[in-house]
Amino acid sequence: MKTLQELTRPNIWALKPYSSARDEYKGITASVFLDANESPFNMPHNRYPDPLQIEVKKKISQIKHVAVENIFLGNGSDEAIDLVFRAFCEPRIDNVVAIDPTYGMYQVCAEVNDVEYRKVLLDAHFQFSADKLLAATDDYTKLIFLCSPNNPTGNDLNHDELVKVLTTFDGLVIVDEAYIDFSNQPSFLNRLSEFPNLIVLQTFSKAWASAAIRLGMAFASTEIIGILSKIKYPYNVNQLTQHQAMEMLHRYHEIVSWVKNLQKERELLEEEFMKLPCAIEIYPSDANFFLAKVTNAGAIYNYLVSQGIIVRNRHTVSLCANCLRVTVGTRNENKKLLEALVQYKPE
Ligand SMILES: *Cc1c(COP(=O)(O)O)cnc(C)c1O
Repeated sequence: MKTLQELTRPNIWALKPYSSARDEYKGITASVFLDANESPFNMPHNRYPDPLQIEVKKKISQIKHVAVENIFLGNGSDEAIDLVFRAFCEPRIDNVVAIDPTYGMYQVCAEVNDVEYRKVLLDAHFQFSADKLLAATDDYTKLIFLCSPNNPTGNDLNHDELVKVLTTFDGLVIVDEAYIDFSNQPSFLNRLSEFPNLIVLQTFSKAWASAAIRLGMAFASTEIIGILSKIKYPYNVNQLTQHQAMEMLHRYHEIVSWVKNLQKERELLEEEFMKLPCAIEIYPSDANFFLAKVTNAGAIYNYLVSQGIIVRNRHTVSLCANCLRVTVGTRNENKKLLEALVQYKPE
């Protein structure tokens, strides 16, 4: 791996972060706060939230067995994705490499930041080869994006190839584990000390059933977390979100049972879906959704909309011609989808 200083944009490396009122005063004994120009009315929402989200991080630390210094929290994983571009990629000079197809936000953030985005096509089984990916890199490649289980394909990426990228690439490797809770593969979370160039992304939006609160997690070395923390907006995670995250973290056992439920429902739904006349193939899934090739994705998508059921049409995505991405819902929601599709008559 190159040194972190070599990988970081010089202006970011040199940056002295904004110091907020609540950064400067960190004690807990005071009872009169006249330092931040807040209103004294409308408790408790009159106060700025903790800019470092210490309580939430401590609880995440206990559950995930990762030290607080190795955790960054943001406004969804999307914030962490944007910040790694802003921290490490010099616009119009540096580039990033990613598998294709994958989560669309990596490319959007690359384009917003004017950073070249290089795609390497997956194979017919939606797997990747470390050598092919590394062949697309050059001296200016700062980041590689890997998503496992991958979206929209649903499958785990090959673990040995992931390790090969982590050990061979001299830039940073982002492993997006948004769907890891649904997978039987081990997370890379407990291997942060082994791979100083690893950034693991997870989120409250999927297994944690809290997409509305916008809370994403990035896990990495203390040095990488330090850089992300110094360039984020000071109060990037609001108080309502921090409060609700604590609620959900205390309900951890419930989340585990929701995950088990959805894994079971996915199996049942896949089994029935395969029997439909419009189904051609269901691709193996390790997530809370699956990708299915159907006879005519556009027509079936429109038909389902007319029945009040929304799935995701992925027809225009690489390797996904005539594919729909179906999220696993409750037993009853899945039943409604199947009943509608049984009734579907091609024009
Ligand atoms: C849904 C999803 C996320 C979550 O993004 P948030 O901003 O945390 O809601 C991240 N990565 C992938 C691949 C996803 O599918």
